[in-house]
Amino acid sequence: MFSLKLKEFFICIFLCVISSLNASIPISLPTEYTPQAFDVIHYDATIDLRKGMSKQISGVCNIHFVWTQDPKDNNFYFHLRGLGVDSVFYQNNKVQFTLESVDTLDYSYYVLSNLEGKANDTVVVTVYYSGEATNEGGNSPFGGVFLLDSVLFANGVGFNNEYVSATQHWLPCYDHPSDKATFRFKFIHPKDFEVATNGIIEDSKIIDDTSKYIVASSKYPIATYLMTFAMGKFKKMTLDSWNMPPKITTVVYYLPKDEEAAKFAFNNFAKYYFTLQNAYGIYPFEKVGYVVVPFENGAMEHQTMITFPQSYVQMLYKNNDTNNIMALHELSHQWFGNSVSPLDFRDAWFNESFATFSESLYLERIIGKESYFKDMLVKKNYYINYVAKKEGLLPLYNYSRKPPSSNYPSTIYVKGAVVIGMLRYQLGDETFFDLIRNYLDNFAYQSRSTNDFLNFSIAYTAQNLYWFFQQWIFQSGYPFLEIRTTQYVNNSNKSSALVSIRQVQPESYGKYVNIPVELNFQLPNGKSFDTVVTLAGEEGTFWFDSLPAFVSFNTNLGRKVISLFTSTVYTSVEHLPEEPEQMTFIQTDDKIILKNKDEHQTIRFALFDLLGNKLKEGKIDFGQTFHTIDISELQNGIYFLLINDSNLWHKYKVVKTK
Ligand SMILES: [Zn+2]
Repeated sequence: MFSLKLKEFFICIFLCVISSLNASIPISLPTEYTPQAFDVIHYDATIDLRKGMSKQISGVCNIHFVWTQDPKDNNFYFHLRGLGVDSVFYQNNKVQFTLESVDTLDYSYYVLSNLEGKANDTVVVTVYYSGEATNEGGNSPFGGVFLLDSVLFANGVGFNNEYVSATQHWLPCYDHPSDKATFRFKFIHPKDFEVATNGIIEDSKIIDDTSKYIVASSKYPIATYLMTFAMGKFKKMTLDSWNMPPKITTVVYYLPKDEEAAKFAFNNFAKYYFTLQNAYGIYPFEKVGYVVVPFENGAMEHQTMITFPQSYVQMLYKNNDTNNIMALHELSHQWFGNSVSPLDFRDAWFNESFATFSESLYLERIIGKESYFKDMLVKKNYYINYVAKKEGLLPLYNYSRKPPSSNYPSTIYVKGAVVIGMLRYQLGDETFFDLIRNYLDNFAYQSRSTNDFLNFSIAYTAQNLYWFFQQWIFQSGYPFLEIRTTQYVNNSNKSSALVSIRQVQPESYGKYVNIPVELNFQLPNGKSFDTVVTLAGEEGTFWFDSLPAFVSFNTNLGRKVISLFTSTVYTSVEHLPEEPEQMTFIQTDDKIILKNKDEHQTIRFALFDLLGNKLKEGKIDFGQTFHTIDISELQNGIYFLLINDSNLWHKYKVVKTK
């Protein structure tokens, strides 16, 4: 009995080990990339939209992929949501499929297992599908398929769903940003409609009295969440006045009623294009496209066919506003997100931070640096005063997606833009833009993680930037600074200032190093003395000599950098008696500051109480501009400091009150 049980036990262990060794690779989750046994290389799909203004669609999608591992123990996965799978073929043979889902997540996908073949085989799965297309639903849906005001269109990401990538609402595909592939789409549609989509139209034909088709493709790979189509009674324009390079196709689709507004809204397009190209390198695709749709909830940067809200176009037109910042933002995604795509959606901050940073950069390039800082200041204040309160403290990387957050919380836009601005300040313009251009160039048309960006940045700049990523990108929160400025004015109306800065944020806001703190001294002549100090640790004291007496003091106004912190500023003025020639003596609550005009001199000092007891003595070597004597541990009372300077003893009264 016992031995038999033991035998069964060993058989079980043996089988368990075998089966765990052979467990197939799980599918990548939206926020957790897992390398797969397959690599999709091409989608070739025919989508039938002949039902017209209806969400009834049908189609067939050929998914070409390479087995990167032996398929024997592995699965092929694809997504399709809302629509039904009619049949699936593998290498032209009908195969079984199962629909599975993750227990903890609204994430379902189709599984094909036990497929024939071997590693490195290129194979094709064909999916026939049909039904009524849906979108993510909820209060203000963004991702999926919409039919609004006689326009049928698709957005590739959702704001409030758990599966994020929403192309699965109209196309069977491995709907994960880690696996980019080329595509060829054939849309069959009613004759009186136009279809806008990604890539270049390589063929279009009238089929019969009622229908026609277009075929579009691209040699550049695309992440599935960047695929789109829009069908409506569109007109289109290509503006010669854009002066685009001849190899770039340009097109804007719009409804006839939006014609004037669209022409107005995209009139400055060339400025956006060339500003971004100058900053980030050659435009990475063969076409720039926009399609103006009756959608209120925002724009989406689909690759070479940006879906753009009609209401925004009309608003610009009505307000005579020639800066189409939204068009610029979406265009910058062609570099950030479309050429270099996220490995999974934890990396979405990279897309939005750089696109939002690009808005400020554009203002700098066409108006001036002041406009850049002004815009950054607005973004910083908006983050601290509104977004952080509404969404809670989120890191840029791997943030919570639960309400009040979402898949695209405002944090990754505005906090992200300020953080990229700080990275620019940290590295300096030349290194920063070199780094970004080289990163985009190195990883063009690939999917990359935040760690890839971190590692590349460190390697390229040869600077340790780990702390920067850690505190601004991986960690949530921001510093609160208490800034105390004391101005010392002497009889000759010269002034000096002591600035003490301390981090006072609650622990949950994190700890920070190397915070750039811009100090703005308003001078009597109307000018401002602006300088940036680096708060290396929890606190720091900075001494400024020979300032004209300043009338007010401020911080983080954005003359040299906008830094992500909030501050409380205390200022005070003290009038000093005439000092001995060589020495400046200043006392604060907890220290005495000695400033010697000859930096290489050595002096002696001694501190006495009123009874003549020597409490401290020492030698000071003025190797630096000033020296401090700590008096924080002294009781309240009156003391005397004697300083031997050039063989003369000077006596100073020290009043400790706190
Ligand atoms: Zn964006």
